[in-house]
Amino acid sequence: MTDCIQRKSEISEHTIKDCVFCKIIKGDMPCAKIYEDDEHFAMLDINPIAKGHALVMPKKHAETPLQMDDESHCRLQKAVMKVAKGIKEGLLCDGLNIFVNIKKAGGQEVPHVHYHIVPRFITDDQPFKAGHTEYVDMEIDKFKKKIREAIK
Ligand code: AMP
Ligand code: ZN
Repeated sequence: MTDCIQRKSEISEHTIKDCVFCKIIKGDMPCAKIYEDDEHFAMLDINPIAKGHALVMPKKHAETPLQMDDESHCRLQKAVMKVAKGIKEGLLCDGLNIFVNIKKAGGQEVPHVHYHIVPRFITDDQPFKAGHTEYVDMEIDKFKKKIREAIK
């Protein structure tokens, strides 16, 4: 039993050490940060579905929202809505997609809780475009600035 508990804690420490989002939050890897408070962190997705696609996450590592206590998750959802309003106002988009992928079967690639927020325009081909776009030159900085300045 003790062995079992020991092994479980070793696995979770290993996951945190290797977690790309934990490294970004710690400042060990670069990112286009758009928001931060004591418990949460938000940045632009490096492979965006649309320009301004953001990821909002808790600073404390958890694999999915299912592992979070309700109070922490409620606070995370508040942070998600704060950033969503910043994106809506900063980019003047017509709508948003907000979603979270859970576990590999749900499309989750990075095992650190994160909400996706995708700006949507009425002129978009489809309500949810499956393809991706990319930032040209330093264009990402303009999106970062617009959103950062609009988040209250
Ligand atoms: P998911 O499939 O829900 O786990 O989403 C993971 C997202 O993280 C993907 O949309 C990736 O493009 C994004 N991503 C992975 N590494 C980075 C990174 N270093 N900086 C910003 N976004 C990243
Ligand atoms: Zn992590």
